[in-house]
Amino acid sequence: QRPQSVLSTLELRDIFIAVKTTHMFHKSRLELLLQTWISRASGQTYIFSDREDKELSIRTGHHIINTNCSSAHSRQALSCKMAVEYDVFVDSGLKWFCHMDDDNYVNVRALVKLLSRFPPGQDVYVGKPSLDRPIQATVKIPDNQTRSVFFWFATGGAGFCISRALALKMRPWAKDGRLVSTAETIRLPDDCTVGYIIEVLVGRTLTQSPLFHSHLETLQVIPTRELHNQVTLSYGTLENKRNVVVLKGAFSVSADPSRFKSIHCLLHPDTPWCP
Ligand code: UDP
Ligand code: MN
Repeated sequence: QRPQSVLSTLELRDIFIAVKTTHMFHKSRLELLLQTWISRASGQTYIFSDREDKELSIRTGHHIINTNCSSAHSRQALSCKMAVEYDVFVDSGLKWFCHMDDDNYVNVRALVKLLSRFPPGQDVYVGKPSLDRPIQATVKIPDNQTRSVFFWFATGGAGFCISRALALKMRPWAKDGRLVSTAETIRLPDDCTVGYIIEVLVGRTLTQSPLFHSHLETLQVIPTRELHNQVTLSYGTLENKRNVVVLKGAFSVSADPSRFKSIHCLLHPDTPWCP
C-alpha cells in the first residue's frame, strides 16, 4: 500500500487558473502569456474576456470564455468577470481556484508547491495584501443605519488562490452573479469584494504570502536567485516609472521589456525558443 502522503499529493491538474483580460489586451498581453507560462499549464488555464476571439479560442483549445461583461474598467465590469470566473471554477469541480491578471507571470511549479503545503479540505485564501492594514468598508444595516467593517484582501493584480472548501462556503454571496451585487453593497472593486465575502461574511482569514507579486510593489528588489521560489510576478508602472523584474536573462530589455520571456527561460530552459 502506498503511503497517504503520496495518495494526497496535489497536482497541477487539481488547480483552476483564471486569467482576467479584455479584448484590447488579447494581442499585447495574452500572446506573451500563451508563449510563456500558460504553455506549461494550458489544460488548467481559462481566460475570461469580454469579446469573441475565434483565433484565440482555437489556440487555447476553447479555454477562452466570453463573459459578456462590459469591457469598461468599471467596478461593475470587473466584478462581473470575477463572478464568472468563480462560477466556472465551482462547476469545474477542481480543488483550487486561482485568479490572475493578464500582466501576471505564474510560476506553475512554485504554485503547485505552495498549494500542496495546505492540508486538503481546509478553508484557504492565500495571496498578498496591497495595503499594510485592513481596508474599511461601510455597509448598510437595518433602520437606515451604516456600520464600518474592516478586513484584509489579497490584491487581484498579484494573483490569489482559494481552496474549494472555502469557495463553496462563499456561494450565498458569490454564486450565479451574486458577487456583483455583493460588490455593490460595499462599493469596492472585485478583489476587495472577495476579501469581504471571505473575512466578513464567511469568517475566514487571508493567509498572507510574500510569494505573490503585483506591479504595485517594487519588483526590482527580488533577487534573481529567489525568482524560482516566487509564485507570481508582474510588470507595469509604479509612480510613473517602469517596474519590472531585474535579471540578466536570455533576452535584452528591448527584446523582452516585461522580462517574462527571460524569466520563463530561467525557469524552463528546455523551452525550444530559449537560447
Ligand atoms: N481589465 C479589464 N477590463 C478593462 C481594463 C482592464 O478586464 O477595461 C483587466 C486587465 O486585463 C487586467 C486587470 O483588469 O487583467 C487589471 O488591468 P490593468 O493591469 O490594465 O490595470 P491595473 O489595475 O493593474 O493598473
Ligand atoms: Mn496591472
